[in-house]
Order: sequence, then C-alpha cells, then structure tokens
Amino acid sequence: MKITELLKRPRKTFSFEFYPPKTAQDAEKLFETVKDLRSLGPDFISITNSSTGSTPYRTVALSGVIKEKLGLEVMAHLTCVGHSRDEIRAIAERLKTMGIENVLALRGDIHNIEGLPPKREYRYASELAADLKAIGGFSIGGAGYPEKHPEAADMASDLDALKAKTAAGVEFVITQLFFDNRFYFDYVEKARAAGVTVPILPGLMPLTSYKQLQNFTRMFSVRLPDEIREGVEKYAADKDSLLKFSVDCASRQAGDLLAGGAPGVHFYTLNRSKATKEILKNIR
Ligand code: FAD
Repeated sequence: MKITELLKRPRKTFSFEFYPPKTAQDAEKLFETVKDLRSLGPDFISITNSSTGSTPYRTVALSGVIKEKLGLEVMAHLTCVGHSRDEIRAIAERLKTMGIENVLALRGDIHNIEGLPPKREYRYASELAADLKAIGGFSIGGAGYPEKHPEAADMASDLDALKAKTAAGVEFVITQLFFDNRFYFDYVEKARAAGVTVPILPGLMPLTSYKQLQNFTRMFSVRLPDEIREGVEKYAADKDSLLKFSVDCASRQAGDLLAGGAPGVHFYTLNRSKATKEILKNIR
C-alpha cells in the first residue's frame, strides 16, 4: 500500500528505519530484529541507501525480500547524487519488479565526494522526485530538517527547497532526528506558512550510547537539550540505566509530538529493536 494512502487514514502511523547489513551474520540479525518489530504492527518500514558503491542494489534487494517474506510495507530510500538518470530509471524499474511502491527521494551527502561520478546529473532531491513522478507508480517521500539542512544558508531558503520538492512530486516528508520538539512544531508551522501542505512525519531516535550522542549531534548538526546530555553522560557506563533513561525521554518526546498533532512517528532503529519496542509500548 502506498504511504500517501496510509497517511489519509484517521490514525497515527508508526514506521521503523533500518540500514542494509554488511555481512551475512548482520543480515541474519537484521531479519530477527525486523521480525521482532513486526509484532508491533508498523505501518511501514524503510531501508536506507548510500550514494556510492553497491548499496542502492542491496537496498532494492532487501526491500523486496522484506516485503515478500515478512509481508511488511516497505519504503526504499534512493539517493541521486551518485547516479546518472539511466541508473535511476533502472533502479526504479527494479523496485517496481520487487513490488515496492514507496520511495524516499534524497539527494544524498556530497561531503564524501570520493566514489561519486565527476559529472553529476542530479543536484537536488527535487530533480529525483520529478523523475520518479514521471516514471510513475510510486508514492514519493522527501527529507525535511527542523533545525535546517546544514548546507542551507537559512531556514527560509531551506523551506523554499522543501516547497520545490513537493511541487516536483514529494507527497510526504520525514524529518531529520531532533531532540527538542519545539524545532518540529516551529518547522511545521513555517512550512505551512511557506505553502507546504503535505504530511510531515517526525523522525525520532532514542540515544542508547554515549558514543551516539557525540556522533549524531555532530553529524546531523542537531542540538541536544542539557537534560538529555547530562542524563546520557551520567549513565554512560551503565547500559541498563542508560536504556531506561533514553526510553523515558523518547517516550515523552513521542507522546508530546502525537498529542501536538504529528501524523505519526518514524523511528530510527539503528537495526535494534529493544528501545523502539519499549517506547511504542509506553505511548500506545
Ligand atoms: P535536497 O532536498 O536536495 O537539499 C540539499 C540542500 O540543497 C539543502 O541545503 C537545500 O536547502 C538545498 N537545495 C535544495 N534544492 C535547492 C535549489 N533548487 N536551489 C538551491 N538550494 C537547494 N542519506 C543517505 O545517503 N542515505 C539515506 O538513506 C538517507 N536517508 C535519509 C532519511 C531521512 C528521513 C533524512 C532526513 C535524511 C536522509 N539522508 C540519507 C541524508 C540526506 O541524504 C542528506 O541530508 C543530504 O545532505 C540532503 O539530502 P536531501 O534529499 O534533503 O537534499
């Protein structure tokens, strides 16, 4: 089923994001995690991608296998910065063959320029969305940034880019992770004022290690409230207490997002099930 249809129902959607495993052992673990989370009845799951190497094809294959074997609705992430238009068309056709109807249209990161073709045919995700719309048959999502995309000069120009993405074919938005809900609610308000009318699903990630705190806040340029930073630092050496603390924070965050009108929650699972399961139990 298309995500655009799922989002029309009068209920909140819950979705889980996974990344393609690198080894056969990781693949087995991932299948166990997905099976475990399937019991929670997610509306869809998503599989990330990478701008270079063979990942696009692994994403396609994994999406197809999960859909067929586990019967879950799947959204495949697709980045365009490392591909020619012909390659994108070929990947889209393979997705269709696998029965995948949902795609997250992304530009992909360009800071790691190594491995990218010197002459690039795509500059922005909006160009990919337009091509996917022309190919037809997909419900197309796009990325949004409540704290602004790091490369954008300001929020106004980033929202212009978001509006251009929806005009090109993006029918729903999933946001970058954030830890302070005020960023999400402000973002939605500003996006609406800028003329963006599509559903905006918040992305949520519970922090389950001290290393993640350092990596993710730097990598994604997102701010961390003092309360969360202090808690993660306090429990850095005590895994169980850290998990409980993170689950409590993320449950409060998710509950507040849903109560404030968010159409659902998209969980960045990092291929693990424990925290996401606990959070869903708490908010349901
Ligand atoms: P765009 O929408 O093209 O925006 C990129 C930048 O260009 C922004 O600063 C924007 O303001 C600007 N811009 C856009 N259009 C214009 C225009 N017409 N004129 C001027 N400026 C413009 N990365 C992966 O590699 N694999 C994944 O699977 C993946 N999944 C993601 C899932 C989610 C939910 C999110 C939020 C991000 C994900 N990313 C993923 C990261 C994403 O690829 C990066 O954030 C990337 O840097 C930007 O991608 P985008 O699709 O937002 O690009």
